[in-house]
Amino acid sequence: MKKIAVFTSGGDSPGMNACIRAVVRTAIYHNIEVVGIMHGYDGMINDEFISLDAKSVANIINRGGTILKTARSKEFFTVEGRKKAAANLQKHKIDGVVVIGGDGSFKGALQFSAECPIPFVGCPGTIDNDLIGTDFTIGYDTAINTVVEAVDKIRDTAESHDRLFFVEVMGRDAGLIALRAGIGVGAEAILMPETKTDLEDLIKRLESGRKNKSSKIILVAEGDDAGGAFVIAEQVKKRLPFYDTRVTILGHIQRGGNPTAMERVNASRMGFAAVEALMKGEKNVMIGIVDKQISYTPFENAVKHIQELNPDLMRMVNILSL
Ligand code: ATP
Repeated sequence: MKKIAVFTSGGDSPGMNACIRAVVRTAIYHNIEVVGIMHGYDGMINDEFISLDAKSVANIINRGGTILKTARSKEFFTVEGRKKAAANLQKHKIDGVVVIGGDGSFKGALQFSAECPIPFVGCPGTIDNDLIGTDFTIGYDTAINTVVEAVDKIRDTAESHDRLFFVEVMGRDAGLIALRAGIGVGAEAILMPETKTDLEDLIKRLESGRKNKSSKIILVAEGDDAGGAFVIAEQVKKRLPFYDTRVTILGHIQRGGNPTAMERVNASRMGFAAVEALMKGEKNVMIGIVDKQISYTPFENAVKHIQELNPDLMRMVNILSL
């Protein structure tokens, strides 16, 4: 391994910069030259390669987003696009590549490996935490902390006006942001795609709990089967008109912000491990952290999954929100 490339792909997530920094500094330590590819697979196709040194990643460990920018590339889905990308990697004499992204980025790398022998290793960058092969993805810890901070503020105003707030958070296919942030803010209910939302039960609980508490917060993952925060709030309002209901969609603030300490540590460990994996001859594997240890998961298995939610956690959620 004399020269490697690193890039970010798919949706951005806080901690990607810490991971880039770790890749660059680990490579330099091992006398491996490093280049960054801008704008994900599009940059690979359009020859947007930049050289990186230890200084170019100074003071980025604390910054959200990605200094290499990111993109979703339509052209990389085509054989012609991938041919251009392979030619550019060969032109720059790249011996190995670190891709920081979600399962789509790994699928792209796997497809590419059938056509180009340059090895790829992945680091899981996505706020949803829904990939098999790692306990935590890069971005998840920061995202749930962002939600907790925002909902704490909403709670202040909800409390002052005795309001019922429905707060919608990211998670089209997975409710893990809603679940952990919901526990963290003491939500009265957490609605997620993994569980069937029983509106009748929610209404019954809201009705009976009306006198106990002045304010109420319900966290709704955007992929919940009952139709999202606005639809649910409208139905609840119709049935329980005495509630002063409000809806807040948190949206893209969940992707931004300075990564948490835990995020920086995990992202650094994964970037460090990715370079050492390439040096050991690994290819087409995603680096993860499972039970505090670094693990390798083949790209074909590092897919999004509808996780069976921990039943103990779910039981606790119901008891604590009484
Ligand atoms: P996020 O979890 O944030 O959505 P992701 O990595 O899953 O991140 P995607 O948009 O699914 O994001 O994938 C990123 C890019 O990977 C795509 O825009 C495309 O260029 C490439 N890619 C994904 N799947 C394939 C595939 N089957 N063949 C070739 N390229 C692919």
